[in-house]
Amino acid sequence: MILPRIKVIIGSELSFVDSKNGVKMDEEELIKEFICIKRTNASTEIFVRLISWEGPHNPISQWKIVRTIKKDISDEQIAVELSRILNNRRYFIRCKECNELKPKGWMWEDNICQSCAERNHQVVF
Ligand SMILES: [Zn+2]
Repeated sequence: MILPRIKVIIGSELSFVDSKNGVKMDEEELIKEFICIKRTNASTEIFVRLISWEGPHNPISQWKIVRTIKKDISDEQIAVELSRILNNRRYFIRCKECNELKPKGWMWEDNICQSCAERNHQVVF
């Protein structure tokens, strides 16, 4: 039996992340912290770390598979897939007040992040 070649890449190991070619700073940080890719010779799976809350001070993070491609793909194609995921409001949302892209689990309301809620709306978590 031949075992599949499996390579797990955390976001910070992706070659295009540090190259500054079109990857914005906040996106770069998000890729490093919240995205992981599992590559084998037969498939590419992309995982996103989702944040949920068990009470106001207890974040729970969970890796969820969000995309499966039935082949190994190039770094360029991975960059395209990641940009789709970063633009998907199910996972990441751009705060309308600080204009930073953040994980959905860090939002206070639809388009306002928790930091802005504390800073601008006197919300205490
Ligand atoms: Zn904000």
